[in-house]
Amino acid sequence: MTELPGGPSLAERLTEVTGRIADAAREAGRDPADLTTIVVTKFHPASLVRDLHALGVRDFGENRHQEAREKAAELADLDLSWHFIGQLQTKKARQVRDYARVIHSIDREPLVAALAAGSPPLDVFLQVNLTDDPERGGARPVEVPALADAIAAAEGLRLLGVMGVAPLDEEPRAAFARLRELGEAVARAVPGATAMSAGMSHDFREAIAEGATHLRIGTAITGNRPVRV
Ligand SMILES: *Cc1c(COP(=O)(O)O)cnc(C)c1O
Repeated sequence: MTELPGGPSLAERLTEVTGRIADAAREAGRDPADLTTIVVTKFHPASLVRDLHALGVRDFGENRHQEAREKAAELADLDLSWHFIGQLQTKKARQVRDYARVIHSIDREPLVAALAAGSPPLDVFLQVNLTDDPERGGARPVEVPALADAIAAAEGLRLLGVMGVAPLDEEPRAAFARLRELGEAVARAVPGATAMSAGMSHDFREAIAEGATHLRIGTAITGNRPVRV
């Protein structure tokens, strides 16, 4: 890990980011208690999750199935909520149900079929591609209404709302405003699907201003990710 000697500790970074999130919420006229912060621990060892748990964190995000499954197994003694936030292969999707409480990346109907049925119900977000690049994860905006209907109709799935990642080449607030509008349309069609998963280390303030309820924050809290070899 690239920790500078004398740099802020994990506890200090967590406190600092939690404070900035609360400030952003109040600036937007929102109650900080209405926000869920998911700490993204991808590439980091399970020991970091353990340290964050000791500091009170319960919601963790991972974006690769194999890594997530291994960490969840290693940390099965802790009361954790795992959020799967990455691209999901249809044939692996079912396995994610074994450890994840929430999946943020439902972006096509085959995934709905693969994940449907089972108890307890699985909470999911519909991921929207906010870029023009079809290779990026997420449903295209035109596909959102039909996909939302499919999720709502599936047994054992509960649609919480929409999820998005701001494009690198656009002001994040504008991208999150589009996500918010799509989310409002989803919420009109699917009662209760009012949540919005948006905001990362560098754009959570803009996401909160546009109504994000679930923030996915990695490096601002964990420090830089170890380089994967
Ligand atoms: C890695 C990741 C994050 C966290 O990113 P940071 O910039 O480290 O805060 C959030 N969402 C998704 C989908 C990610 O893959």
